[in-house]
Amino acid sequence: MLAPAGDPGQEKPMSEPALHHAMSLSLAEARAAAARGEVPVGAVLLGPDGTVLAQAGNRTEQDCDAAAHAEMLVLRQAGQRLGSPRLIGCDLVVTLEPCPMCAAAIALFRVRRVVFGAYDPKGGGVEHGPRIYDTSPALHRPEVIGGVRETEAAALLRDFFAARR
Ligand SMILES: [Zn+2]
Repeated sequence: MLAPAGDPGQEKPMSEPALHHAMSLSLAEARAAAARGEVPVGAVLLGPDGTVLAQAGNRTEQDCDAAAHAEMLVLRQAGQRLGSPRLIGCDLVVTLEPCPMCAAAIALFRVRRVVFGAYDPKGGGVEHGPRIYDTSPALHRPEVIGGVRETEAAALLRDFFAARR
């Protein structure tokens, strides 16, 4: 077992500009997803030094895969890129609060920190619903920062669903 005290990245906070830049990339992925007819959610996976290891938007329609959420895509891409299923010291930045499936996957991949934009009272699994990290003590618990550029992220989703009605 790894001692939690030995995790070097845990105490280093993400700078405000770095956080906003990463969210800009995620918002761009969300817009690109909307243009493809996908629910507009985008994500990026940052390495311990802040390098972008992966970025993606939802691809459930395109891939005929109900589990092809942006978070799942970047987790898998980053794992393959690093050659490890453990993304130690990595941060995931996503435009919407992760659903329970993604929240659990983020923990399994040992992501250090999850940053999200809009809160999702209906489908979220971090601050809503099953609150995966609060109720599953056996899981790795990433640091969570919610509500980053929330207005923009929420507006994207609102506009997308309004246009479909
Ligand atoms: Zn999800």
